[in-house]
Amino acid sequence: MAVTRTFSIIKPDATRRNLTGAVTRMLEEAGLRVVASKRIHMTKEQAEGFYAVHKERPFFGELVEFMMSEPVVVQVLEGEDAVTRNRDIMGATNPADAAEGTIRKELALSIGENTVHGSDSEENAAIEIAYFFKPEEIVG
Ligand code: UDP
Repeated sequence: MAVTRTFSIIKPDATRRNLTGAVTRMLEEAGLRVVASKRIHMTKEQAEGFYAVHKERPFFGELVEFMMSEPVVVQVLEGEDAVTRNRDIMGATNPADAAEGTIRKELALSIGENTVHGSDSEENAAIEIAYFFKPEEIVG
């Protein structure tokens, strides 16, 4: 399996509860390496642009407001088959459906306040990484 990269966000419900370390620890224990990380407060434009794929969905406005509500930590993760590995450790979107031992099962509050974002394909990972990071900010 090739070493690849994915994009992760530690969402506002986690930064608010001081869980950035707990989330990062679970990512690292799953075999992912944090090769870039920064804490930012998303603007409305950033949040709307990032989630543009969902703009027709009923939860879009609430999702954008949530992502702007508190700081987030954006990260680039590296590891073998990083996209799938990260999706596995994240767990299902709704924490009620997430498997035992996953980040969302252990830490998430609700389907909206679900602690982490992770890219769903290598193609989207490349787009999402470039949305938040300059190449020189990623140190593998
Ligand atoms: N979301 C929500 N309500 C829903 C579905 C999704 O608030 O009914 C939010 C949730 O924060 C989720 C994000 O929108 O993480 C993006 O949804 P997606 O289906 O892409 O889930 P993910 O890839 O994050 O598991």
